[in-house]
Amino acid sequence: MRKLTLRGGPRIAVDDDRCELYGICQWEAPDIFELDRDGRLKYRRQLEPDDYDQAAAAARCCPMQAIVIRGFSEE
Ligand code: SF4
Repeated sequence: MRKLTLRGGPRIAVDDDRCELYGICQWEAPDIFELDRDGRLKYRRQLEPDDYDQAAAAARCCPMQAIVIRGFSEE
């Protein structure tokens, strides 16, 4: 069971030192990530609980393991 653990809702962060801008996160979670025309990754940091599955899929698929989600625990 997933449990919200952070006041204000779950948050997502991308480690810029790891991210190589492959854009896989955008394919997995188009409501959260967007690789813009200038090659910059934009993303929504504050997540709604309904975004969790997309965010988790993006984090799982990121080849650089650059995506971190905080505020949810799996029980
Ligand atoms: S999938 Fe990972 S490495 Fe690729 S753009 Fe997204 S965060 Fe960066």
